[in-house]
Formats: sequence, C-alpha cells, structure tokens
Amino acid sequence: MKVERLHQVSERSSKDIFGMPIIGFLFKNRYALLSYRLLALFLFLYALIYGFLHPSKEENIFTPAVFWSLFWPFFMITTLTTLGNVFCMICPLGFLGKNIQKIGLKLRIPKLLKNPYIGIIFSNILAYWFVLYTFPGLLRIPIVTALFFSVFLLLSLLFFFLFRGMAFCKYICPIGSVNSAFARAGFTWLSTYREECKFCRKPECALSCPYELNPSKFDERNSMANCTLCMECAHACPAVRFEIRGWGSSLVKKISKPLHWEVWVYILMVAVITFAMRFHHGLGRTQFAEYTPWVVAGKFLQDKLNIPDWIDMTGFMAMIIALCLVLLIVFLSVRLASSAGQLPMRKVFLEIGYAFAPLMIVGALAHVWEFFFLRYYSDFLNGLSQAFGLGFHIEPLARRGDPWLLVFNVFPPIAALWSIYILKKRVDLLNPARKNLFFLFSAMLPAAYLALWAFSFTAGLLFRSGHGH
Ligand code: SF4
Ligand code: SF4
Ligand code: SF4
Repeated sequence: MKVERLHQVSERSSKDIFGMPIIGFLFKNRYALLSYRLLALFLFLYALIYGFLHPSKEENIFTPAVFWSLFWPFFMITTLTTLGNVFCMICPLGFLGKNIQKIGLKLRIPKLLKNPYIGIIFSNILAYWFVLYTFPGLLRIPIVTALFFSVFLLLSLLFFFLFRGMAFCKYICPIGSVNSAFARAGFTWLSTYREECKFCRKPECALSCPYELNPSKFDERNSMANCTLCMECAHACPAVRFEIRGWGSSLVKKISKPLHWEVWVYILMVAVITFAMRFHHGLGRTQFAEYTPWVVAGKFLQDKLNIPDWIDMTGFMAMIIALCLVLLIVFLSVRLASSAGQLPMRKVFLEIGYAFAPLMIVGALAHVWEFFFLRYYSDFLNGLSQAFGLGFHIEPLARRGDPWLLVFNVFPPIAALWSIYILKKRVDLLNPARKNLFFLFSAMLPAAYLALWAFSFTAGLLFRSGHGH
C-alpha cells in the first residue's frame, strides 16, 4: 500500500532523480534505457566487424576511435566522476549478459574464479596497461582492437551462459571492479525509501537484481559495490530511489564492511595510470628524460637483452618503477600511521585507503578533457564519417601546445586536495591516538601525487624537449 503511494512523483524526495522531470525519465524508463543499450551494442558490434574488414590503421580510424577515445576513456571517466557507473549501465556486454543469464545454466561460479583481483590484475593491468606501455601503438591497430574486444565478448558470453549473478562483471571484466570502486567519486547514489522497506515482506528489489545485490542494504552498508545501475530493481519496486548526494559523499562516512579490492583499485590505478603516465609521457618529454631511472634501466635492458625496438622497455620500466614506488609509499604510510595511531595496519590500510579514491579518477579528467579537444572528438566523428560513408572531415578542436589547454591542469591538484579532505574526515571517524601525526603519515600518497604533478607540470613548461620516449 505504502509502496504504491510512491508512484506519485510528489512523494519522492526532492533529490531523487527518478522523481525529476525528463532526467528521471532518461534514467528509469525501460525504453529510454533500451535505446541507449541498443545504440551502444550496435556501435560495439559494428566497430568490431569493421575492425576485421579494415584491419590497418591507414584504412580504419573508426574502430580505435570507438573503443579508445570518446566512449572509453572519455565517457567512462567523465561519468564516473559525476553520474556514477553509467558506463556499465549502457555496456553492451552487461546488456547481453542479463538476457543470456536468464536462459543460461545458472551455475555457481567456482571459488577459484570468484575473485575480483582476476579482473583488476589480469584483465586490466596485465592485458591492457602492460600491453599499452610495453607494445605502444599495438592496441590502436584496428584488427588488434577488434581481436582484443572479441576475446572479451566471447569470454563474457561464456561466463554469462554458465554462471549466475553476472559473475563476469564482478570477477573477470577489466573494468567492472574498477568502475564500481571509482563510482564512489560521483554524486549519485542508489538506495531505497527505508520507511517503505520496513513493511516489505518480499524484497522484489533484491530478487530482481541480476547481480544478486540488495539495494535496500546499500545505505546501511554505505556500499553499492558491483551495482551497475542496470535499474532492474527500480522497475521491480517504486521504493528504489536514485539520489543526488554530495560529490563522493560515501567516502567520508563510515563503511561497515570496507572491501580490500576497492582500496587496491585506488592504489593500483594511481600507480599504473597516474604515476606511470607522468613518468613516461610527462617527464619523458622533458630535457632530462635521459637521466630518469626508467629510461636508464629501459635502455640498459633493451641493449643487454637485445630486445627489438618495437618492444618499449622504457615504458615497461616506467610502469614497474611507478608500481614499486607507489606500493612503497603506501606501505610506509600505513606502517608509520599504524604505529602513530596505535591501530592494526590492516585497519589503517582499509580506513585511509578510501581517501585515495579521487587521485587517479579526478586527476585523469585533465588528460581526457585535453584529449577530447586534441583528438577524441575529431577522431570519433571522422571515424563515423568513414564507417558510414558520410563524406565529411573535421579538424581537431585544439592543437598540441595551445596555451588554453593548460586550464585542465586544474584537475590533479583538485584530486590531491579532495583526497586530503576525505582523509581528514576518515581520520576523524577513526579517532586514533596522536591524531595529527597519524594524519600526516596517512597523507603521504596524496602528498607524493601532488609533488609529482607540480614537478612534471613545471618541468613540462620550462624544459620541454619536443620528443618523448
Ligand atoms: S562490469 Fe564490464 S561487462 Fe559488466 S557491465 Fe560493466 S563494463 Fe560491462
Ligand atoms: S525497495 Fe525492496 S525492500 Fe524496499 S519495499 Fe521495495 S522491494 Fe521491499
Ligand atoms: S542493485 Fe539495482 S541497479 Fe544495481 S545492479 Fe542490482 S538491479 Fe541493477
């Protein structure tokens, strides 16, 4: 009875997106959601087929543009830091998966595969970032892009057919766990009207969730881990709400069951993306690039082991050194904070780890917005023109070196300061002994991030070399 009353928009909270005109329709209406998913699926399949039919870079800019520019990373990073995990909401694999799972075998996934680190380490870091740094340009070859995504498509279909609970998304997908963790940086939150749930005998919201989650517990746990905003629960019960809350609001509240993998996502991604990129592409384009440890070690290995030039040992070493450095900083930070605060290291790691969430994802906005103007926008539209024979060609919106592009450098310091702000709030929640000292040690990673940004930004301005490694 009570649940029924919520059908009326006037009864919904003023912050509930589902109750808002137009935007509520865009996020909840089945046909609206279906139309985005069909469009994404069409683009995905067309780009794959086009990649096989036109395998070389010279004849195909469409396939790499669809996968590596506007859709991912631009769309993914801008939406994760605002609307949340809407990338998964429209993902073609998730869309196919939900439907295949219904007719599949619905087996329980073996314990060995029930591990989000498979997606984070193997599918993401090794299958993508390692390849990107070590074999530069390889993934931008249309046929390689098409093969790469075909493997993921086939693997996902197999998993969706065999196992229940959208196991591929939770454990194997290279971006499932990563998106789920970073969605905390956005300003939306899915939950339910608690007063209504008190009277609920049959939680249709949970029963309808293909991911086997229970949205009525999201608030209590301060976690919506693995939720892909597919909105099945919202269609099953009107007491589900999708609210606008403060940016990253869940990060400053107590998390009843902190997840190791979420914290590792923040740390590993800041290492392999932010630090490694600043080493390889930031400092690698300055006049003292030759003296950096990754260039020295990379060249040494390349010569000593007779490694051919198409394997970039400098990029590989930048990634390895970035990983080692970040892990060392985190270890020292947790170790010192733990003894200052007289708390177990594990607890300190989980509590302060959530403060690192903005570092990579908000800092990455600098890169994706700059590249939107330099390449993504024109590549995507020119790719569409090529693939559908539209006969137009557009120029990029900006040229490398245009001074106004520097404006996007505002994002890394915002990321670091936001991280420090979250840290302050989390330290207050934890209330350790010698609080100030604890806070100081806990802030080592954001401080190192800020220092690296300031150094590479200044070096890029004053000592640019004009060529990179
Ligand atoms: S987890 Fe991966 S496969 Fe699943 S919906 Fe998200 S991006 Fe798609
Ligand atoms: S949201 Fe779920 S638990 Fe709450 S009333 Fe609806 S079905 Fe029941
Ligand atoms: S909780 Fe709701 S929106 Fe999230 S995955 Fe489950 S059904 Fe989809």
